Amino acid sequence: MIQYVHMFSEGDRDQKDLLGGKGANLAEMVKLGLPVPPGFTITTDACRAYLSEGQVPPEVRVEVTQRLRDVEDLIGRQLGDYEEPLLLSVRSGAKFSMPGMMDTVLNVGLNDDSVEALARFASDERFAWDSYRRLIQMFGKTVLDIDGELFSAIMDRAEEAAGARTEVGLDAEDLKQVVAEFKELVLKETGSPFPQTPRKQVDMAIEAVFRSWNTERARLYRRRERIPDDLGTAVNVQAMVFGNLGETSGTGVCFTRDPSSGHSGVYGDYLPNAQGEDVVAGIRNTLALADLEGRDETVYRELRTAMRRLETHYRDLCDIEFTVERGKLWMLQTRVGKRTAGAAFRVATQLVDEDLITMDEALERVNGEQLTQLLFPQFDRDADRTLVAVGMGASPGAAVGEVVFDNASAEARKAEGASVILVRRETSPDDLPGMIAAAGVLTARGGKTSHAAVVARGMGKCAVVGAEDLKVDVTAKEIRVGEHVVRQGDTLAIDGKTGEVFLGDVHVVDSPVMTYISEGIEAGEAAAEDSETKELVQAVHRLLTHADSRRRLRVRANADTGEDAQRARDRGAEGIGLCRTEHQFLGERRQQIERVVLAETDEERETALAELLPAQTQDFVSLLTAMDGLPTTIRLIDPPLHEFLPDLTDLTVKVALAEERGESGPEVDRARELRDAVRSMHEANPMLGLRGVRLGLKIPELFELQIRAIAEAVVRLRKDGKDPQPEIMVPLIGSNRELVIVRDQAERIIAEVAEANGESMDLPIGCMIELPRAALTANRIAQTAEFFSFGTNDLTQTTWGFSRDDVETAFFPRYLENGVLTISPFETLDALGVGELVRIGVEKGRSTQPDLKAGICGEHGGDPESIHFFHNAGLDYVSCSPFRVPVARLEAGRAVALTESGSSI
Ligand code: ADP
Ligand code: MG
Ligand code: MG
Repeated sequence: MIQYVHMFSEGDRDQKDLLGGKGANLAEMVKLGLPVPPGFTITTDACRAYLSEGQVPPEVRVEVTQRLRDVEDLIGRQLGDYEEPLLLSVRSGAKFSMPGMMDTVLNVGLNDDSVEALARFASDERFAWDSYRRLIQMFGKTVLDIDGELFSAIMDRAEEAAGARTEVGLDAEDLKQVVAEFKELVLKETGSPFPQTPRKQVDMAIEAVFRSWNTERARLYRRRERIPDDLGTAVNVQAMVFGNLGETSGTGVCFTRDPSSGHSGVYGDYLPNAQGEDVVAGIRNTLALADLEGRDETVYRELRTAMRRLETHYRDLCDIEFTVERGKLWMLQTRVGKRTAGAAFRVATQLVDEDLITMDEALERVNGEQLTQLLFPQFDRDADRTLVAVGMGASPGAAVGEVVFDNASAEARKAEGASVILVRRETSPDDLPGMIAAAGVLTARGGKTSHAAVVARGMGKCAVVGAEDLKVDVTAKEIRVGEHVVRQGDTLAIDGKTGEVFLGDVHVVDSPVMTYISEGIEAGEAAAEDSETKELVQAVHRLLTHADSRRRLRVRANADTGEDAQRARDRGAEGIGLCRTEHQFLGERRQQIERVVLAETDEERETALAELLPAQTQDFVSLLTAMDGLPTTIRLIDPPLHEFLPDLTDLTVKVALAEERGESGPEVDRARELRDAVRSMHEANPMLGLRGVRLGLKIPELFELQIRAIAEAVVRLRKDGKDPQPEIMVPLIGSNRELVIVRDQAERIIAEVAEANGESMDLPIGCMIELPRAALTANRIAQTAEFFSFGTNDLTQTTWGFSRDDVETAFFPRYLENGVLTISPFETLDALGVGELVRIGVEKGRSTQPDLKAGICGEHGGDPESIHFFHNAGLDYVSCSPFRVPVARLEAGRAVALTESGSSI
């Protein structure tokens, strides 16, 4: 027989699944011998049974009766008694704390008779009637679904009639009148009188808690927080204690440590003569917890002891709700408390220093998201600021700089040492150079998944998007906002977290943690402005160092230039997992690519290619110099060729105009040829078209050029006594045969260059696994590949059949709303689908080559949850954006600690 109802004294804190968080922690406090008003928990099993059968299982009613009698015996009062009535609170409590579900109902059990009894028993008529009106109000709102405004309106009228400013000013007679009106309201709104039978009130409240699991608000919250829909909630039924029984009573909340600094001490608020949520509701001014000492030293000491016991027992910062009834302390709730990112790191190391937890446990208690927050630059909060607009904070950080409107100005001013803010109505891929040069990006249009937002986040660059009050005129190079006109060269400051846009300079500072990450512990400590920040820097250092010592996954970075590579290396990257080479074909080199594509003879093509070679070689020299001695994976050209050619529409218009004007000559001919070439390469679905290895096999000279440049860079660096470690990676492989062809070609070129220079050279050649077919045939591909790198961005696109740029704005919001997706599979790896292909790929690859090196590149490499997946899938490394490297180091270490202790992320 399944047991649906448990006394608090039967459970413990490990039973959160069954008893909910609140119930499990109440049980734990009882076990510790702390003073908890007696009560019981109805399990989540009962809730799930209710949800599937549409009614509360009959056994629950029976068990509730039995346990209620136990509570009555413990306390010596009875529900509905005419002398000394027992009153109850009915409190919802799921495994995860969940706003959106039913609020707690207090004072359950009061009716027209027992309210009189309560008045006599407490010798306080006002208190009794106030409790009764609170019950009808809470019960009416949360159990009977009556609009809360209707109750408030009655209260307001009563206060006005009594000439009182708040409800505290109402006396017993006023409250009796309020109760009468409340009861009328209930009758009018529901067609039935307010239930007078205490047990009926209890049963209705229990059912309402179960029902509230599936309200719209609760579902929405679960989807956003990725809490499964089938957990259900528990219900706690507990004897009431009263903080509103005069000046020797009261209610409060406290923390065992300061949740923002982490320091231990006395943190909390206390409100004398108050009940329930009065403390946090802000109706009256609360006292500091320390003031309780002067009011009631015994209670204060008892509370301090309870706080210490809880912290020692939970070995963590706890928050606590308590009530004092006529000089007696009651504990109503505790849990491991929420805290700021900074406090999380500090508290974790403080607890280590107090020998309460181990370093591994400390690692489990912080996470990559918290570390990210600590890395963003900060605006000086104390500075004077003029706010002119608020957009969406799309990529956190704080940036101040001169306003520029185009790539050229952005790059020019950056080169002259200026910090610039790139302002556009919206951004497109063409704005990339400007975005790279800018300290921050500001757009008037677009949302959180707009191009500007996505790219900026990838670069870890501050961005505010959709600041619609800005009238951006790129041609006139000015912004109008309200009465202000901002011209090119004027200064703006943007906060990528809050979306705020300020006029003029606002002082920004690198966070001291960032200084530590890029310059080391001494610099980080020196950058800390106070002892608390210094402690934070040290805490991050200790935990990150510990993570490094524990992790099995290596951490590499995605970096395309020497500069990026250096930055990644400073942050602890152990190699480059992905260098995209396509930017090497943009800018001035575009012309040469056009010539390669349009060449009529082999000779012409070779000349064009030969001109590209020195520049390419130089690119690789600078990259490999920055990564000297570390593995550097260079991906051969990947995107469809037309991306490097002029726009088809522009060309078509240009030719049409020239023809209409009757113009002719070599320039028009060239435009026509170019148009025809571009048209012939036009693709309906470029993502699935001529790109990656397919392009490499169609125009072999392109890969040849790149491979030769890599080999020559190696020769040059070795001559300088350096130790370059390039790895050549072929994109979009679907068949082993494709790789065989490229590998033969590569080996031939490498041998040629080596021989010409009297060197011997053996560069690893591997491939991306980014098509389902590659994962499924990985055993064959591993016959040729010397390493695998899972390209999880494309693998997600090809597994789902999503074109990322098209689907993210088109229907992801709907998919997230209706629960098809709980999070974008481009943010966190879809473990069930895409992840399965990764697992298969690793397993099959290693069935051919047992020590095949396998890594992943793509944005998932910097995502905490995905990193844990990759750890468990047995990959050797993750590669992520340089900015995310510290996060990946931390999470890779956490993955080990969490796996060993059997916890989940
Ligand atoms: P929440 O989930 O919002 O924290 P709770 O169930 O903790 O809701 O209830 C809200 C408040 O109601 C508590 O802070 C406490 O002050 C009061 N409360 C709950 N149960 C009791 C009780 N048995 N006696 C007195 N007050 C209670
Ligand atoms: Mg609470
Ligand atoms: Mg790809």
